[in-house]
Amino acid sequence: MGDDVKVLITGKLPDSVIERVRKIHAVTSHDAELPMTRDQIRKAIVEQDGLLCMITDKVDADLLDHAPKLKMIANYGVGYDHIDVSAVSGRGIPVSNTPGVLTNATADLAMALILGMGRRIVAGDAKTRRGDFKFWSPMHFLGREITGKTLGLIGLGRIGKAVARRAAGFDMRVVYYSRHRLSPEDEERWGVSHRSLADLLGMADYVSLHVPLSGGTRHLIGERELKRMKSSAFLINTSRGPVVDEKALVAALKAGRIAGAGLDVYEKEPELAPGLADIQNCILLPHVGSATIETRTRMAELAVDNLLAGLAGERPPDCLNWDQVADRGNR
Ligand code: NAP
Repeated sequence: MGDDVKVLITGKLPDSVIERVRKIHAVTSHDAELPMTRDQIRKAIVEQDGLLCMITDKVDADLLDHAPKLKMIANYGVGYDHIDVSAVSGRGIPVSNTPGVLTNATADLAMALILGMGRRIVAGDAKTRRGDFKFWSPMHFLGREITGKTLGLIGLGRIGKAVARRAAGFDMRVVYYSRHRLSPEDEERWGVSHRSLADLLGMADYVSLHVPLSGGTRHLIGERELKRMKSSAFLINTSRGPVVDEKALVAALKAGRIAGAGLDVYEKEPELAPGLADIQNCILLPHVGSATIETRTRMAELAVDNLLAGLAGERPPDCLNWDQVADRGNR
């Protein structure tokens, strides 16, 4: 512990990473797996100069009102929909995220859900364990092909592109929808072609979501969009739960309007929409897109790099609002 600068780390991170912060600042860290409650954070933040927060911590004007000394917020995660960036910027506080380091792990998981749904891997495992594997037969337990099928990527940023790269290995035809088109050279490089959302939904065998959660993407996939999908198609969501209207998804799955869903995230996480857990043709994961030992360690390192830079008055490498806070000259 060094100077008088105080830092709150709201999640359990590797000791070696916390130690880097502890060498120069006074650290309060949360050691339990269960996230800190809002009340706990509100109480603890009063004295803090730096906050390293988790995606489950809502950082809004109310919380900031309890943090008069706060000078830097480092988010542990790439998605920052839980942070009111304009309220943070209004107080002259830099805020950062951890882009890039979790791209491959999340793309791997999206691919795992595509393979898992298409080939019924989880259902097949359950059937075998139940003792229901009693014979081999030509029409027994058929899935859907992945190779050669059409993959529709909604959002083609870091993770979307990494999924496109993986899909090329399966000879999939990859179409994408995002607000901005890539250049023709980049479309060729990534092996993708742009479609309207409606066209993509109507043609894809697998629809995989890779957009951030924002006002523009909340319920991007609702009843109308699910109706546009082929009845043989699968929806894969490793982005954020509220991008999908989960009630509409449950209805579509129950009615057999789509073939199934592979989900890592939920609209009211960790709660599931009523009926979702009873539906058999879906895989439900507990928000583990970036959850590998390697990636979670890299995320912790990167969040700390950002935190320490911000507290030293330097531009954090992954700052989300540098222009806004630089304008205020408030660092
Ligand atoms: P990124 O590089 O910023 O890419 C986001 C993509 O979404 C861009 O192609 C963007 O293109 C598109 N987009 C944004 N708003 C849109 C809109 N309104 N309509 C259509 N497309 C839109 O982000 P990333 O690193 O790939 O991460 C994507 C998201 O994945 C994160 O924000 C996070 O929420 C989620 N994630 C989840 C996990 C997990 O554990 N499951 C792990 C990592 C990340 P345009 O701007 O051209 O539209």
